[in-house]
Amino acid sequence: MTHDERQAALDDVAAQVRACTRCRLHETRTNAVPGEGSPDTEVVFVGEGPGFHEDRLGRPFVGRAGDLLTKYLGTLRWGRDEVFITNVVKCRPPDNRDPEPDEIAACAPYLQRQLEVLDPALIVTLGRHSLGRFMPGERISQAHGTVRPIDPATGAPNALGFALYHPAAALRSTEVERQSYADVALIPAALLEARARREPAAEPEPAVAAAVGAAILADVTPEAIPDLMPDVTTDVTLF
Ligand code: URA
Ligand code: SF4
Repeated sequence: MTHDERQAALDDVAAQVRACTRCRLHETRTNAVPGEGSPDTEVVFVGEGPGFHEDRLGRPFVGRAGDLLTKYLGTLRWGRDEVFITNVVKCRPPDNRDPEPDEIAACAPYLQRQLEVLDPALIVTLGRHSLGRFMPGERISQAHGTVRPIDPATGAPNALGFALYHPAAALRSTEVERQSYADVALIPAALLEARARREPAAEPEPAVAAAVGAAILADVTPEAIPDLMPDVTTDVTLF
């Protein structure tokens, strides 16, 4: 698919989501929140569901949890518009309760379609509900900061999953916040691994990958982390 075709397909999903009445969450929403970002990205962040601010604005992760997610991205020198950000359910559960299993199931085709269009290399799950969708049976306390295979039925058979705690959990606990920054620093290495798995021919020189991994583990300043976002219109030149 071309850039324009992907953009059109994502716009189509967004229009369907805004008109959707497939589950009870449509009754209480102000705005549905389809998700946003680059149609050409390799990395998709998937949260749980819209909160108060997201419902008001119709955009994902624009409240305090969103500010923290934006900060995480900033430590990698990635902008929100270079990734794609969405949720397991597209309408706000009342009083920010957890989404119910039947609501997650009703909404799943939209996320599946988004992922089929984007065909990402890496899916970063934010919190338990997103983890449960992509890596069923995994526990967040074990899975955070690690790369895992994902359930191909989710729409991204060529992607690896990388689990983070939900940013809202990091806002409640400095220990979770500290751990989350450490986990985020491992995302570039996870992306390299995901890329290598998709395109064995384009696998980076092991020495280069090891150097990047070592640099990340050595807790280098964000400035020193190479820009890992590809320019999809040209050959990917990483380092
Ligand atoms: N929390 C989420 O899980 N998603 C959002 O979009 C905002 C907050
Ligand atoms: Fe439709 Fe999903 Fe919103 Fe439910 S949460 S009404 S399935 S878009």
